[in-house]
Amino acid sequence: MIITLSKGADAARVRAALADLGLWTREFSGSLGGTQFYVRAHSGAADHSAILAVPGVADLAEPASDHPLVDALGPEVEIGGVRIGGAAAPVLFAGPCSIESEDQIHTVARRLAALGTRFLRGGAFKPRTSPYEFQGLGREALRWMRAAADESGLLVVTEALSESSLDDVAETADLIQIGSRNMHNSPLLTAAGRTGRPVLVKRGMAATVEEWLSAGEYCLAHGAPAVVFCERGIRSFDDGTRNLLDLAAVALLRHSHGVPVIVDPSHGLGRRDLILPLSRAAIAAGAAGVIVEVHPHPGAALSDGPQAISYEAVSELVAALDTDQPAALAGKS
Ligand code: PEP
Ligand code: MN
Repeated sequence: MIITLSKGADAARVRAALADLGLWTREFSGSLGGTQFYVRAHSGAADHSAILAVPGVADLAEPASDHPLVDALGPEVEIGGVRIGGAAAPVLFAGPCSIESEDQIHTVARRLAALGTRFLRGGAFKPRTSPYEFQGLGREALRWMRAAADESGLLVVTEALSESSLDDVAETADLIQIGSRNMHNSPLLTAAGRTGRPVLVKRGMAATVEEWLSAGEYCLAHGAPAVVFCERGIRSFDDGTRNLLDLAAVALLRHSHGVPVIVDPSHGLGRRDLILPLSRAAIAAGAAGVIVEVHPHPGAALSDGPQAISYEAVSELVAALDTDQPAALAGKS
């Protein structure tokens, strides 16, 4: 939003009055002359009449947003009967980093369903830093995952790494995951939108919040019925944790942009001992749920073992976050 000041207005006073309304401004000299304020994206929502009533404010204008469909999305979406965001209880997305065998994914699905997980996660196509690391088991793993999820009453979220596997992923997944490395891949975002499936848009590891929202816009503009955003940590100077889990961005998405956002503390932290406290913090910041990596034998995991948690830890997480539960587990009929 752009606010134009009246001639001779005291800019500092106007800025202070706008800050009282929750608006954070940056001054610039507009092409029309005089003083104007640009209202920054992390400002709160304020009534236009309240802004115009501030002494010294002459006019305001709302330039078109780069992501109108995201802006219209609203705080809550429903995927496969599960409500995500808004007033809904936190949703747990859990599963292995990679699908490693048919038996593994069935076992994990059964255990996680019994603990209150709603979405089974797991990669069949893995974006690995090294070409010598495990790359995932591909299409066959997708079939195992779908069967495992169906057997246990779970929904499926899995990553589409490229356009070549997108049709198979779309056939399998209730929610198509676009990974951090692909958040800027507009042809893939476009193609994911065209499948007509909801999309989980993970934040690029060096993406601004606006770029992240625009990635969601791509999916919606090309036909996705819904998007959910996922904060998974950004690159920082500090290697104390794998990434810097940006919970401020989570609060921005939830409270300023009003869109559903979940948090992936597994990739954000890279270590299992901090998953519980940062999951709590994520929910406090406004996350609609968390997505965590779980492995029956973390030490033997083919990828991301150090950040995988045990079933016991999942159970603690569910209790701590007071997550959404399927009727059967919650004791409802
Ligand atoms: C994942 O969730 O499996 C994954 C690879 O995460 P990211 O894209 O956030 O690195
Ligand atoms: Mn992983």
